[in-house]
Amino acid sequence: MAQVAQDEKPGSPLQVEGVACPDCGCRQSEVLRTVRRAMANLRMRKCRSCNRRFWTAERTA
Ligand SMILES: [Zn+2]
Repeated sequence: MAQVAQDEKPGSPLQVEGVACPDCGCRQSEVLRTVRRAMANLRMRKCRSCNRRFWTAERTA
């Protein structure tokens, strides 16, 4: 089940649901970098559990 912060509106582009660490599956990560692309924003995230860094892509349109 995806969790959304209580003060975050559903569907907010800043809150990504279901982004889990590929290593440990933890859904708590912090965004280190955001790279804007024409079709998507790429975010480098760091897992809060195992500190693994991984990229996610979010469609902007
Ligand atoms: Zn992890």
